[in-house]
Amino acid sequence: MYKEEDLLLLSGIQHIDFCERQWALIHIEKQWQENVLTIEGHFLHEKADNPYIPEKRKGLITARAVPLVSYELGLYGVADVIEFTKTGELDNSLKIPKRSGRWQPKVIEYKRGKPKNIDCDKVQVCAQSLCLEEMHNIFIQEAEIFYGQTKHREIVELDKNLRNHTKNLAGKMHEIFTAGVTPKAEYKPCCKSCSLIDICMPKILKRSTAYYLKDIKKCENY
Ligand code: SF4
Repeated sequence: MYKEEDLLLLSGIQHIDFCERQWALIHIEKQWQENVLTIEGHFLHEKADNPYIPEKRKGLITARAVPLVSYELGLYGVADVIEFTKTGELDNSLKIPKRSGRWQPKVIEYKRGKPKNIDCDKVQVCAQSLCLEEMHNIFIQEAEIFYGQTKHREIVELDKNLRNHTKNLAGKMHEIFTAGVTPKAEYKPCCKSCSLIDICMPKILKRSTAYYLKDIKKCENY
């Protein structure tokens, strides 16, 4: 269990799944650069991140900007939206002040674009759900991600693999944060859509290293 002062930002889990260096540049070196993708992402979040406004319709409560914490993962953050569905079951549900019955929570995350081939969006909703599970001592089966481009909600099964992957990433965040060393740049396909590419300069750094090694070899020959 982590202590309060050791908690890291939950939203960073999507960055570290995308690239460990990107996470370190943002969360250790405090670098951030807006690009079209992140600006569109903020726009989409605006509605979801309105202050905590519960809405109720037919056995459904929608709570926005809900604070979350997990001392096991060592993460804290805010969920865009959590939907609570009224349930007759006593297990895996919780009580809500001034509401009758019991309610099953589900994390809903808003993203620009469409579903991705990598897990960065899934690990974020999984981490948020793990926080809710720990905070309320319940088990949550699934979460959902709304994509702005497809205007569709994708269901994310919170299976064992995703849970383990999410826990490993949270552990990696703490490992890198404690070491305080930003991983080296390595150019890869996802660099093209990375908001930090101009700061990171993965191609130049890689080339510089190659030239540097070439220079060392040259020197050895003298
Ligand atoms: S440009 Fe590439 S290597 Fe650099 S932080 Fe972004 S994804 Fe990572």
